[in-house]
Amino acid sequence: MQGFLIRGLPVIRAGDDLATLIESLFELHDDDVLCIASTVVAKSERRFRELKDYEPSDRAKEIAHSLGKDPSFVQAVLDESEQVLIDNPFLLVATKFGHIGINAGIDQSNVGEDRILLLPVNPTISADKIRKRLSKQCAVIITDTCGRPFRCGVAGIAIGWSGIGAMRDWRGKKDLHGKTLEITLEAIVDEIAGMANLLMGEAGDGTPVAVFRGLDYPKSGEGLFMPKYQDVIRRHLDPYR
Ligand code: GDP
Ligand code: MN
Ligand code: MN
Repeated sequence: MQGFLIRGLPVIRAGDDLATLIESLFELHDDDVLCIASTVVAKSERRFRELKDYEPSDRAKEIAHSLGKDPSFVQAVLDESEQVLIDNPFLLVATKFGHIGINAGIDQSNVGEDRILLLPVNPTISADKIRKRLSKQCAVIITDTCGRPFRCGVAGIAIGWSGIGAMRDWRGKKDLHGKTLEITLEAIVDEIAGMANLLMGEAGDGTPVAVFRGLDYPKSGEGLFMPKYQDVIRRHLDPYR
């Protein structure tokens, strides 16, 4: 397998066509896996917000007080959430598209003063749209650097994907001792997103796109989000099918 980091992308603005920008800088091959940081997808999809535009509810004020956070920021998190899972000592939510993440993945870095950046409305739809604009048959994974609840440090995971199955199914394969594997579904989109995130960096590197070539991956399959949210995702995806 080979990994590439695409250099030379500009600061992304609302309405930018990421597929065209990427292909103007890098020659994709069929079956490449294109990983794009959610930050730039969100920028292209006008997901900037100003903290001052939020009117914090009593609940947001309460949570903000106990966490020592800005009530407007907490309100933004609540607005992006389907369900709050934990509100102390961190705010862990299920987003409307089914991702479980701290602060609903809302970013305050690489964004600019007093602004926040929401995640794309539905990163799987974003990945699908980008993939369909590419001149080659590629997989697209939208990545985000996430904190991991009950564990220190952040890591890159997949929050949306298209043209690739999220999991490799090891069930039915034999282990070293001839015992048949019964439950192993490997979340390969997360593993690939982790590699991509490692190459991209977190600060001012300006490298939000990584490409992997030579990976053997399933072209379709089940998702990663918990079944409860699957019908939500399907409902959102249908118009694009
Ligand atoms: P996240 O993991 O999706 O939240 O994104 P990060 O903020 O960690 O950024 C990932 C990479 O993309 C880093 O190398 C950033 O410097 C870079 N990046 C973020 N925004 C832009 C942008 O608008 N243009 C370019 N060229 N790079 C960006
Ligand atoms: Mn992020
Ligand atoms: Mn990051």
